[in-house]
Amino acid sequence: MALAFDDFGRPFIILREQESKSRLRGLDAHKANVAAGKAVARSLRTSLGPKGMDKILQSPDGDVTITNDGATILEQMDVDNQIAKLMVELSRSQDYEIGDGTTGVVVLAGSLLEQAEKLLERGIHPIRIAEGYEMASKIAFDHLEHISTRFEFTAANIEPLVQTCMTTLSSKIVNRCKRMLAEIAVRAVLAVADLERKDVNLDLIKVEGKVGGKLEDTELIYGIAVDKDMSHPQMPKRIEDANIAILTCPFEPPKPKTKHKVDIDTVEKFQTMRGQEQKYFDEMVQKCKDVGATLVICQWGFDDEANHLLMQRNLPAVRWVGGVELELIAIATGGRIVPRFQELTPDKLGQAGLVREKSFGTTKDRMLCIERCANSRAVTIFIRGGNKMMIEEAKRSIHDALCVARNLIRNNSIVYGGGSAEISCSVAVEAAADRYAGAEQYAIRSFADALDGIPLALAENSGLPPIDTLTAVKSQQIQENNPYCGIDCNDVGTNDMREQHVFETLIGKQQQILLATQVVKMILKIDDVITPSEF
Ligand code: ADP
Repeated sequence: MALAFDDFGRPFIILREQESKSRLRGLDAHKANVAAGKAVARSLRTSLGPKGMDKILQSPDGDVTITNDGATILEQMDVDNQIAKLMVELSRSQDYEIGDGTTGVVVLAGSLLEQAEKLLERGIHPIRIAEGYEMASKIAFDHLEHISTRFEFTAANIEPLVQTCMTTLSSKIVNRCKRMLAEIAVRAVLAVADLERKDVNLDLIKVEGKVGGKLEDTELIYGIAVDKDMSHPQMPKRIEDANIAILTCPFEPPKPKTKHKVDIDTVEKFQTMRGQEQKYFDEMVQKCKDVGATLVICQWGFDDEANHLLMQRNLPAVRWVGGVELELIAIATGGRIVPRFQELTPDKLGQAGLVREKSFGTTKDRMLCIERCANSRAVTIFIRGGNKMMIEEAKRSIHDALCVARNLIRNNSIVYGGGSAEISCSVAVEAAADRYAGAEQYAIRSFADALDGIPLALAENSGLPPIDTLTAVKSQQIQENNPYCGIDCNDVGTNDMREQHVFETLIGKQQQILLATQVVKMILKIDDVITPSEF
């Protein structure tokens, strides 16, 4: 701030914009950034693994979410530090690319930052640390490939896929029903998968939930479930071999637009108009019948009079069906969406073996299931649960399981979980460090230590003494030359993750290491932080 005087001697204050910004430079900036990143990772650390804790998050409008999923926790945490935002972005990219391992990737990044901080304090230049980390991540990446095994599965033998999905689900709140949910997820993915091209389009799997019942009542519907019911309670609840007209145009007589004026001054005129309207709608219904439709699914609504007429003319109809659902119905039944009524022709109808209304227990809730579709690629996972939070968490967990099954179909290599892969990589990276002269060697060793962060967190969360457990498992791995030893989180009695059936996909694990290293390198390269300071 400076005081100056204008031509008339009146004083005024000059505020320099520069001064309204606070700035951190050099080592201070590095340390502040590392601390911010570590803080985010620390909050997720306790959620890792089958015995991980759950978090409860409240949104500004009071909605409560209970979850164990890293990506969801970070998404809702509403952080405003720039570095913390990078960590949120990190878990989001893991979620986007792989769908699972979102907690692990942040914990690993936090662990790498912690080790980097120690190196910074010893005076090693951040760029050397970043380079060392890069080399070490390549070693770990290749080593993972080396210890991976291939899982053979066929459409008839889905057990390997189920086992891998179960590992993902075992660390979620819904682990009570993990076997059943894993089977549902695998069946759903196989129903839509193209095994020749090794491709899965997850958009064809719809995950729906409705409060009520138990988690065990969750089921897979080979078709589409729409949260709607027949427009009239007296319409048939079950239609076999349905020919479905899918309309996105109004299914009622055209209403006079507001710009037009209709003069009705006599009863006769009114009745003529009414008659006209009725005739018009009657023709519409007749047209549907003529093309052979036995069910009409409409994006728009129709009024009670039209509804009654439809019932009288014995043409079941469903109204107010959303656009996304209409598309799925069209894909599954092989029908075409008809945007203009005049375009309705027999070849645009969709076919379904069975359309039925499903009602739940004593509640009045009903859903429409369209099954045995002509082109039965789209499926629906229908989740039941005691409350909304449970259903939302089940949806997220099923999403993870679906992603794991998809990843395995794309690439059927797996590594073993429970921290065994990380320990094995840590040993390999440590051994390779000697080959490098220079400060990078320190960074490579630190990378190996950082990899130990995952098994340490798993042990800590399971109530085991972390250091003792890790050293015991590590020495067992080296002595027996067995990269499958991990942390026995569930106290099963064996450290061998092959026996415990704890699997993770190779690409998921590799992606974790790549993404975590990338973000940490990015954070290490920032040496100037300029932020607007608050007045
Ligand atoms: P993420 O969101 O990263 O998938 P999770 O909370 O699902 O995090 O925890 C995954 C970690 O838990 C992985 O390292 C996995 O190997 C480990 N894990 C899962 N099930 C078991 C188990 N039964 N025994 C030991 N470790 C397990």
